[in-house]
Amino acid sequence: MPTFPFSEADPIQFPGPPPKSADVVIIGGGVIGVATALFLARRNISVTLLEKGRIAAEQSSRNWGWIRKQGRDADELPIVIEASRHWRQLAEECGEDIGLKQTGVTYLASSDREMARFEKFMTIAAVHEIDTRLLNARETAGLIKGMSRSFKGAMTTPSDMRAEPWLAVPALARLAARRGVKIVENCAARALEISAGRISGVWTEAGHIETSGVLLASGAWSSLFLRRHGVSIPQLSVR
Ligand SMILES: Cc1cc2nc3c(=O)[nH]c(=O)nc-3n(C[C@H](O)[C@H](O)[C@H](O)COP(=O)(O)OP(=O)(O)OC[C@H]3O[C@@H](n4cnc5c(N)ncnc54)[C@H](O)[C@@H]3O)c2cc1C
Repeated sequence: MPTFPFSEADPIQFPGPPPKSADVVIIGGGVIGVATALFLARRNISVTLLEKGRIAAEQSSRNWGWIRKQGRDADELPIVIEASRHWRQLAEECGEDIGLKQTGVTYLASSDREMARFEKFMTIAAVHEIDTRLLNARETAGLIKGMSRSFKGAMTTPSDMRAEPWLAVPALARLAARRGVKIVENCAARALEISAGRISGVWTEAGHIETSGVLLASGAWSSLFLRRHGVSIPQLSVR
């Protein structure tokens, strides 16, 4: 089993060189880049994924891993319901442990105001027929044995899940590679090549790739990359 955090000592899983051409070049090997690469490969689109360091070594291995429907905005909920279905299927397709567990998610309320917020979500939950329910103060007290604080109540969604991010994303990358995606680690994309107003290639630190399609999935680095092309995206980095 790999060790966390990723470090220079971990061997590269996906060495170069990058190919000379691809239908689509994906810049960034976090969960967004890796999952998109996999889904494009399923449609027989040739994909090269460039990662400047190691797959999932940035935000995508350091998060809490929740696959959560509870508390979502009404517009997000259909996407998360679909994502939950995909995660279950991907866990099987990967054929290795991605740490997927149906843990459920519970939020505790200290005030009537918080309980009112939970009640508001119940209307959204009912529309989408998810298993969220409210617990009263007595039921909440019974959740954790020996709990010293008392709460007004709680909201819980037993079907919510968690995956282990630093296992899941590298496993998805291995699956994508088995499905034909060319992944190249330690290979930063430097700039887009634009010809007659269209993308014609990507310059990388290991040479040029001819392509007509690029997905920029570079996380917090995306705005920096685009700035040199005169494109501004509303992205905020917070420390
Ligand atoms: C504290 C915390 C908790 C979170 N908890 C959850 C949670 O419970 N559930 C959940 O779903 N989400 C959670 N998130 C959000 C989640 O982590 C992110 O939405 C997700 O990881 C973003 O993935 P990404 O692929 O867009 O970016 P990243 O994971 O940042 O990947 C971008 C990749 O692009 C690479 N890159 C950048 N520039 C270049 C370049 N020029 N060339 C090549 N490669 C490049 C980087 O090296 C990096 O690996 C949490 C986030 C935080 C901070």
